[in-house]
Amino acid sequence: MTLSEFQLISKIKSLLPADACNQGIGDDCAVIKGSPYDTLVTTDILAEDVHFKLDYYSFADIGYKSCIVNASDILAMGGEVTGFFVSIAVPKKLTDENILDFYAGFKEAMEPFGVTILGGDTTSSPSGFFISITAVGRVTSGKALLRSGAKPGDTVYVLGRLGEGAYGLHLLLDKGVRDRNNVFVQAHLRPRLFPNEWRKIREGYTITAAIDVSDGLFADLGHILEESGVGAEIDIDVDWTPVSGLLSAGIATDEALGYIQGGGEDYALVFTSRERVDGALAIGRIVKGEGLYRIASGERIRVEKTGYKHF
Ligand code: ADP
Ligand code: MG
Repeated sequence: MTLSEFQLISKIKSLLPADACNQGIGDDCAVIKGSPYDTLVTTDILAEDVHFKLDYYSFADIGYKSCIVNASDILAMGGEVTGFFVSIAVPKKLTDENILDFYAGFKEAMEPFGVTILGGDTTSSPSGFFISITAVGRVTSGKALLRSGAKPGDTVYVLGRLGEGAYGLHLLLDKGVRDRNNVFVQAHLRPRLFPNEWRKIREGYTITAAIDVSDGLFADLGHILEESGVGAEIDIDVDWTPVSGLLSAGIATDEALGYIQGGGEDYALVFTSRERVDGALAIGRIVKGEGLYRIASGERIRVEKTGYKHF
């Protein structure tokens, strides 16, 4: 294959008939119109040796994370989770217990949402464990938070953690750390979402755009900028400690900032609002024009496109 992931998706989109009513490809979830609620749908694959490795993930961790990454996309649209569909392709090397542990982990992650698994599919796999999750959610009609709503003058906020899961992956892959109690390893294996804090913010303020950080703060904020036709300035000198434990853990500032700006895997929410929002960290502002800029010691530096590339 020669196309990048995003080029491929855009090519697929261009081959399809348009949908005049519902909103399809291009945001964290599809929005299927209804009344009084629109239905949100998102789907994600987790593939062995691409998204997880069996030598450091327990099956319960895989189940846990499969739930979180999908729930995160529902939250990013401002929705409440309705339920999940879980499909698995199981290689011969797995035991019955492995699969039951996977579901135990999924159940644990699902608990705060007060919902259940509503269906799925089961098949064998010639090699590798594959998981496909679909999450369904709902949002008051017309109120889904899109990537396209940011306006010049809005403030950019973060709710959640940044850089910790990516640093945890670095510890697992490059440093051979296997201590499950290490906070960064834990952040990688079992990322934390903040559904209650987020609901409070949505109820208290007008949010103009939102996305969850799966590929990196700058990469995912970049999607908001592209879809909204605006630019942003991010204040690098802001105190990041409320959203990341990396700086206070003795990691060199440049390295920590690299993970905070570029690391995916934490599923923090990046959102914009015209208002001064309590309970989230303000990191910069939306400006006219295009492009993402870091403001450091008063200097304005253009950020080139970053983020995790699948191929
Ligand atoms: P996220 O990181 O939020 O899960 P993705 O980057 O995976 O989002 O997907 C971006 C958009 O492209 C979503 O709207 C998704 O539904 C759509 N998409 C991804 N892959 C395909 C595909 N193979 N066919 C159709 N739509 C796709
Ligand atoms: Mg997303």
